[in-house]
Amino acid sequence: MPENDLVNAAALAATIDPSPLCVDAEDTLDRVVEAMGQATKTYALVYRRETLVGIFSYDNAAQASTHQADFSHVPVSLWMTSIDWLRPLNAPLPWPLTFEQLHPEQPYQPVVDQSHHWLGLLTSDGFHTLPPGAEAGLTSRAELTACHYSAALFQQQQERLTLALKGAQMGTWDWDLAQGTIVISEEQERLLGLDPGEFDGSYDALFTYLHEDDQAAVHHALQQAVRQGQRYGVEFRVLYRNGQTRWLSARGQVFDDGENPPRLAGVTLDISDQKRAEAEIKLQSQRERLVAEIAQRIRHLLDLDSILEQTVTSVQEFIEADRVIVIQCGTDMGGEVIQESCSEAYSPMRGWVLRDPWSVGEKFLAHYRAGRGLAVDNVYTQSLPSPQLEFLEYFQIQAEIVVPLMQEQTLWGLLIAHQCRSPRVWRTADVRLLQNLATQVGIAIQQAKMHRELTLANQRLKRMAYLDGLTGVPNRRRLEQYLDQEWRRMSRENSPISLVMVDIDSFKGFNDRYGHQAGDNCLRLVARTLSRAAKRPGDLVARYGGEEFVLVLPNTDIEGAETVAEDVRLLVRGHRIPHEGSAVAKVVTVSLGVASALPARGGSPARLIKAADDALYMAKNQGRDQVRVAAPLAE
Ligand code: GH3
Ligand code: MG
Ligand code: MG
Repeated sequence: MPENDLVNAAALAATIDPSPLCVDAEDTLDRVVEAMGQATKTYALVYRRETLVGIFSYDNAAQASTHQADFSHVPVSLWMTSIDWLRPLNAPLPWPLTFEQLHPEQPYQPVVDQSHHWLGLLTSDGFHTLPPGAEAGLTSRAELTACHYSAALFQQQQERLTLALKGAQMGTWDWDLAQGTIVISEEQERLLGLDPGEFDGSYDALFTYLHEDDQAAVHHALQQAVRQGQRYGVEFRVLYRNGQTRWLSARGQVFDDGENPPRLAGVTLDISDQKRAEAEIKLQSQRERLVAEIAQRIRHLLDLDSILEQTVTSVQEFIEADRVIVIQCGTDMGGEVIQESCSEAYSPMRGWVLRDPWSVGEKFLAHYRAGRGLAVDNVYTQSLPSPQLEFLEYFQIQAEIVVPLMQEQTLWGLLIAHQCRSPRVWRTADVRLLQNLATQVGIAIQQAKMHRELTLANQRLKRMAYLDGLTGVPNRRRLEQYLDQEWRRMSRENSPISLVMVDIDSFKGFNDRYGHQAGDNCLRLVARTLSRAAKRPGDLVARYGGEEFVLVLPNTDIEGAETVAEDVRLLVRGHRIPHEGSAVAKVVTVSLGVASALPARGGSPARLIKAADDALYMAKNQGRDQVRVAAPLAE
């Protein structure tokens, strides 16, 4: 059985043409040849009024061209192989079996020319040509068997598989477990970094090509698969002769059908690019986690110093820079290094005030103002002007990343990482880390600023809530709060506390005579006078209500309080504020009630107030413009 029969049968199966080119017998040669070319057909069926009259092939065209120069007027029928010259074979061929698979239930007619050259098959859907050389096998085609055809198909599939594996850059290997020999494909050798044919087929030799650190893992995976008759899948590195390292992934399984020797076979794929991408993604997500972590740390901080301190230390730690600084931009083009984290080996920069062009130069400032950062791998390759280079040299800076810290679209400062021990090729991830961080720091700075403003506003509000609007001294709410607080303190210290209650005499009359405005001024003056009389830091003057004031005197006994009260009385009198309508004097006077307690012995702030009030009532009753002292509080 000739070898090429197999090939022909397979090729025939592949080249059967289900759509022949049909032309009219009167079509000119040039048009038909052109149509054949366009449709990439090697023949055309020639019809005259729906009847097949012949076949025109490139052979006919070749014949014509030896006789004719001009094809434009010659009808194709002149040079075709007439149907009369074609003769169907009487006996059916033994191999329709295979064709039936391709054209189910279609009758076919083999077509040969007069000299028995087999041209093709005529079926209900047209003429199917044979590839050149197919005729050679015609006589022996009877010998073709389904088995042979399968062999042809197998070879074809084999070819396809080889091509597919090559296209996928996939290596194969097949380990005969009985013999111990390993057969690997050429592609597999290439993946291992070997020349074709270099691999000697031994298990041990295979391992010499693998990365030292991965040999054990591969060995383990293979042995386990062999022992348990399982699949295996393992990733490992190979070290090429040129020093390059590649990542390979091998997958396969044990095949043991009980008849043939058991084998372990599988494929290998180069996954270096995938590994690199994975590593890049991993690094990127690591950086993102870092930013989130640092952001988390600084978000809790509400003062600028702590935010910046946390930032520089975190950045130095995470990107392993030699120095990380924050420069705050001044209004005059200058900048001050206000925060720093610096390795001991290099000079600190904190506190340095940098004047134009400082470390960066105006050209870069514009860049930063636009919110962009930059990374310099090596300051010596930047053609920097010498003063700038000297500055960098002074601080041993060889490489740096600079990112702007923005506040409401203006450049607030710069976050800078320095590499001093050597130049450094920064990774995109490093720059991105700093940039992301700068955004977070910007937010934190903004937050800190808002927090400071809020704290101040709150303090103001609080003050306002505890102050009397007219006189500016603490109000009754504050008095009660303060008295409670001091009461407890005096109780702990076992010390006395005294209260002086002050009331302006005949104040109603004052208002009536001099007007409300004058009354208010008088109240303010009395408040100021009381404040002057209460000299100790713990003393508190409060407006108790209307024209009544209270003095809280911690660590003061009854005698001391009486003295203060008497001072107040004289001071108010001393102002000599005219009060014609007063029943007491021609000037404004006050009456005062004094009470004292030893909180450690009991009692309460309310009772102390009541006692002072009672004493004041006594002073009023006994003629005003005087101080009256309450009896000691009952325990
Ligand atoms: P006494 O000598 O008994 O204390 O007589 P008085 O008139 O001072 O006492 P009274 O309690 O009868 O009157 C208090 C007056 O204080 C009534 C009110 O007109 C005045 N007063 C209270 N609060 C204010 C204030 O905020 N401004 C002004 N101008 N007057 C006030
Ligand atoms: Mg009163
Ligand atoms: Mg009064």
